[in-house]
Amino acid sequence: MNFEFGIEEQKFVAEVRHFIAEQAMLEDAHDVMNPNRESDSILSDTPARKRFNKAMAERGYMGMSWPKQYGGKELPGIYEYLLNEELSRVGAPLIGKGVGCVGQTLIRHGSDKLKAEFLPKILRAEVEFALGYTEPGAGSDLASLKLKAERSDDGWMLNGQKMFTTSAHFADWYWLAARTDPLAKKHKGISLFLVPMDHPGITITPIETLGEHVTNQVFVDDVWVSDEYLVGEENKGWTYICEALDYERFTFYTFSPLEEKFNRLLELVKSTLRDGRPLSSDPCVRRDMARLATEVETAKMLQRRVIYTASTGEVPSVEAAECKLFSTELHQRLSRAAMDFLGEDGLLHKDDEDAPMAGKWEWSYRATPLDTIGAGTSEIQKNIIARKKLQLPLEY
Ligand SMILES: Cc1cc2nc3c(=O)[nH]c(=O)nc-3n(C[C@H](O)[C@H](O)[C@H](O)COP(=O)(O)OP(=O)(O)OC[C@H]3O[C@@H](n4cnc5c(N)ncnc54)[C@H](O)[C@@H]3O)c2cc1C
Repeated sequence: MNFEFGIEEQKFVAEVRHFIAEQAMLEDAHDVMNPNRESDSILSDTPARKRFNKAMAERGYMGMSWPKQYGGKELPGIYEYLLNEELSRVGAPLIGKGVGCVGQTLIRHGSDKLKAEFLPKILRAEVEFALGYTEPGAGSDLASLKLKAERSDDGWMLNGQKMFTTSAHFADWYWLAARTDPLAKKHKGISLFLVPMDHPGITITPIETLGEHVTNQVFVDDVWVSDEYLVGEENKGWTYICEALDYERFTFYTFSPLEEKFNRLLELVKSTLRDGRPLSSDPCVRRDMARLATEVETAKMLQRRVIYTASTGEVPSVEAAECKLFSTELHQRLSRAAMDFLGEDGLLHKDDEDAPMAGKWEWSYRATPLDTIGAGTSEIQKNIIARKKLQLPLEY
């Protein structure tokens, strides 16, 4: 039994680290790589971020798992996962939705026109997408979404509202789920569209969250979309969304930030004196650190199971649910432990120059709950595990 990655994969990780080190030498690196950040999505599309994404594209890191006929390298998906691991370790932007759910869905189901228009731009890092699924009354129960698309000439007229659309404020295109058949069963009447984000009928209002992650409310008023920008078949949107969400759960929740966070906590414990004694000799701190170390190792193994299952060609739904549930809640436990250890100093905001570890922990304490909500809440992950793994049917 071997829990480590193979030689080729380790070589690839070394190459990515070298690439990151080269980028870190550049003047604007701090704008784009910041391990103190919880996630890259709070960033707007700054010139530094654009440059970084372009450099990744030039290095051939976009679409590594795509078929060669679409400009990919047909490498196993694990390479994209390993790339994201190294990027998230330093807080850099991940390869994200373009290469992931948008690109993969277009390759599998998109028309020749949509493939020709979008895939090359994704590979060159020239386009950003926002995912418009959630609505005020449709989050966990996404299939209840109501934004309507009604037939109009050779296209569709879209009207409705979306909630929590991350990156809408800088994306170029909206990957939008709409109800195309109000009479069909709720999972059967949904279609996906691509809509330019600068369409005059689209209004974007920012929502600032507890962790300073800016997401958005989006209003869609009389937005006409031609048939050419319907993704795949009409009323098949639910199938495409589910396929893509499985992909998202595999690639979005990387392990390295958890590991980095634990290592920083360990540094903190070793370097902090409380009442003249090192924190590291406090029995309660030692007990908590030992427990957290074991949990970090557990999270790593859960993540490896996701990768292993995906590498066998199976969809790792249960494994990904277990991993997301455990890892995102562990992020919270780590941040809470840091706040306990730091006492009142832990409350200092990152803008305060006296904040320990540049305010990382105070921010982390506020930011980590978001991960237990986005891409399926903890309760939804438990439902997946109860239904699919434990075969516990929901009966009333
Ligand atoms: C930072 C952030 C970024 C996001 N980015 C995007 C994005 O880019 N695009 C997008 O479309 N969406 C995005 N979302 C939305 C996200 O997917 C939803 O918030 C999430 O699916 C939960 O939906 P909701 O907020 O409507 O809560 P609800 O579904 O209303 O849930 C409320 C509470 O009820 C619980 N609950 C709901 N159903 C059940 C059930 N069946 N059993 C037990 N408990 C249940 C939930 O766990 C939760 O605690 C983002 C969210 C966040 C926080």
